[in-house]
Amino acid sequence: MPMSTCPSVANVVARADGGLIRIRRPGGRIDATGLDGLADAAERWGNGVVEITNRANLQLRGIRPADAGAVASALEAAGLSSGPDGDRRRNVLVDPLGDLDPTAVDLGPMLRPILEGLDADRRLDALDDKFGVALDGGGSWSLAGRRAAVVVVAGPAPGTALVTCSWLPSEVVAIADLPAVVAAAAVASLGQPRRSVVVPGAARPASGPLGVGAGWVGAMPPLGRTDAATLAALAGLARRYCAGPARLTPWRGVVYPGVEDRHRLRDELADLGLVVDRSDPASAVIACAGSTGCTSGLGDAVADATQVIGARRAAGSPALGIHVSGCAKGCAQSAPADVTLIAAGGGRYDVYRRGQRDSPGVLAAEAIALASAP
Ligand code: SF4
Repeated sequence: MPMSTCPSVANVVARADGGLIRIRRPGGRIDATGLDGLADAAERWGNGVVEITNRANLQLRGIRPADAGAVASALEAAGLSSGPDGDRRRNVLVDPLGDLDPTAVDLGPMLRPILEGLDADRRLDALDDKFGVALDGGGSWSLAGRRAAVVVVAGPAPGTALVTCSWLPSEVVAIADLPAVVAAAAVASLGQPRRSVVVPGAARPASGPLGVGAGWVGAMPPLGRTDAATLAALAGLARRYCAGPARLTPWRGVVYPGVEDRHRLRDELADLGLVVDRSDPASAVIACAGSTGCTSGLGDAVADATQVIGARRAAGSPALGIHVSGCAKGCAQSAPADVTLIAAGGGRYDVYRRGQRDSPGVLAAEAIALASAP
């Protein structure tokens, strides 16, 4: 199999700020031991930045090639990797609160059987690194608008789900049959051109589950970027408050389920600098790594998005979906945001409103001001 350009625990991919490792967390699940293991790896071998991705995975940045083996061993020991072949099957996204949202169908219990179904077939050792499955039970935190190779949506009848991919006809199947059906779709993908399909449904909210909910507490680090010390603190909070693993969300946040003292946990998360309120402008601002972390970057998306957050907070502006991108590829989000800044080089941005180009080639300061306006 040719060397993949897709980062994983077994495949450290060079970026502008050093090696990048992606840790796939099926369904975003991660327990306190995993968070501690990640914090330790970030502290010992990373450059201090840990990212939560829009597929509810984690990324360590700034890894030196010489340390790759040690990092992989440590992450496997912390239960965060199943080795190269196992990790290739771990790209399964689930809506994060299916069991706690009365408006959703809970597909979470199918996560483990689906993974076991994918693990059972050795032909899937050849699976494409970007192969992924999205399980959407609908509800307030639906995955609508996101993309995956295989999309599973609950319904149309109770106990059934619609399975869609680009190389087999769509079919409605019993939810209990999903492990076999998803594994068959994965086998059918072998040798096919890489294509994804969109999770159907109304456009998703710009921010994820934040603050106190019915049995859960949600928070996110601004821009989904955090550090080793904060991860260690999140592990401690998981031990003290959480029944079961914490859940990373595709909104780059984390949800603690099964919490009794929810308001106290929310306050502790806020004290760590995490966003716990959907009215906070930081809840809806996203950015890619930009020029400091990506050789394709034409602008410092992280620094400029941080300025946007600061300006909107200072002005008391409402939360608005804002995407700051280091180039036109738009890795952080494919769907149009309310306002999108795309770096054009030379310290300038093209500014878009709801996907329409509004102000081309403006200086970064002006683009930040435009994105900061109420
Ligand atoms: S959008 Fe461009 S600059 Fe940002 S991470 Fe993707 S390729 Fe790099």
